[in-house]
Amino acid sequence: MARRYLEATSLHQTIRAAEVKDERILAGVSTRELEMALAGKQFECAIRHGKRLFLKLHDSLWLVLHLGLTGRLIYLENGAKEPHHTRLLISFEKDHNLAFDDPRIFGEVGLTKSPQDFLEERKIGPDALQLDPNGFLKIMDGRKSLVKPALLNQRLIAGLGNLYADEALFQAGICPRARGLTIEQLTILFSSIQEVLKTALATHADLEELPDSYLLPHRRSGGRCPQDGALLSRDKIGGRTSYFCPEHQKLEKS
Ligand SMILES: [Zn+2]
Repeated sequence: MARRYLEATSLHQTIRAAEVKDERILAGVSTRELEMALAGKQFECAIRHGKRLFLKLHDSLWLVLHLGLTGRLIYLENGAKEPHHTRLLISFEKDHNLAFDDPRIFGEVGLTKSPQDFLEERKIGPDALQLDPNGFLKIMDGRKSLVKPALLNQRLIAGLGNLYADEALFQAGICPRARGLTIEQLTILFSSIQEVLKTALATHADLEELPDSYLLPHRRSGGRCPQDGALLSRDKIGGRTSYFCPEHQKLEKS
């Protein structure tokens, strides 16, 4: 979503200046370094990996944006006023600006010489949407830990957040506390993950646009399963609040 938005608005325009409005957003770079690195350059292309965006400045320098939970990018035309929680403001020539707005500052801004090295150094796993079924089985088969924390472990798979992990397990009929899944279950789960993430992209992650058969529009205390009407269960699993249907996502005894 963010990558498509950037591509539609912000590529191939000369950056007049960049202004760090809040240093807490910076990761491994100083205000001066970042502002100097951006001034006079253009974003040549954008790559997404999980929740990170890599914007190419030139052959050996990329801007890295991690949107975190609350970060978003907003393109402002003709000097429109920047949003209240702007942490980084990039001003293009022609008076258009790109704001990185992040009320809670869970996001990060940094620089890297190579997206590949960046991901390897941090041991970040493959992007969920770029995995094929075999790659997914290789990561998940034989794993003894609970399935949901494994899906959220960015060292295994990048890009599946708490909400969409709940949704994929719901669609696959698998309890978030299950462990030691069979190949068949993992194959179904892989398909669910792909479908859920593609639907999220198509609907721009607008929960109200999701099909009613999905968990997310009903994911709240007192919500009911849209498939069988059962009252949804809520539980902390691996430290994250999880919703699931006690009826069609039963924990099978192994
Ligand atoms: Zn159900």
